[in-house]
Amino acid sequence: MITLKTLAYDFNALEPFIDAKTVEIHHTKHHQWYVDKLNWLIAGTEFENMNLENIIINSNGAIFNNAAQVWNHTFYREGMNWQAENEKWDFTYRQAKVKDQIEKKRGSFENFKTEFTNNAIWNFGSGWTWLVKDGNGELSIVNTSNAENPMTSGLIPLLTVDVWEHAYYLKYQNRRAEYLENWRSLVNWEKVEELYKN
Ligand code: MN
Repeated sequence: MITLKTLAYDFNALEPFIDAKTVEIHHTKHHQWYVDKLNWLIAGTEFENMNLENIIINSNGAIFNNAAQVWNHTFYREGMNWQAENEKWDFTYRQAKVKDQIEKKRGSFENFKTEFTNNAIWNFGSGWTWLVKDGNGELSIVNTSNAENPMTSGLIPLLTVDVWEHAYYLKYQNRRAEYLENWRSLVNWEKVEELYKN
């Protein structure tokens, strides 16, 4: 039985970058629906008592799609810091080991931000844009479609942004670039750093 992790912040905690209504619907409707559907699909199967990561690695089709969407949404949510303000965010980032790696790879943080955003803008249709590390600690930016998760390619996710329209449509309508610009102000770099160092 897979359960929906409780939201660690109030629905309005990501304002003004992500509006309360979007956070509420995303959590209580979309995310909950993936959890409910997954439990219904795995009941009485070999997946019933597996943890979520193992379901993702070992399944395909509808079970994979719903399991990965449960995981991806929790990961997206935990990659945002409800206390973050730009100054705190910059300070956290300046102290991070992942910063050296990003700058080594991309030249500067500005280049990285542009590249990440461009990837997310050009991620066609519904999907996710990720910062991942490989087994050698090398960073890459990857796009996935629908529920796909880079874990299935042996990569370790550090950060993700949801570019399904339901993640931004209420506030931004078709303006995905503006959503991404604002989402960047919420990135929980402490979490990224923790995952990078593990
Ligand atoms: Mn979503």
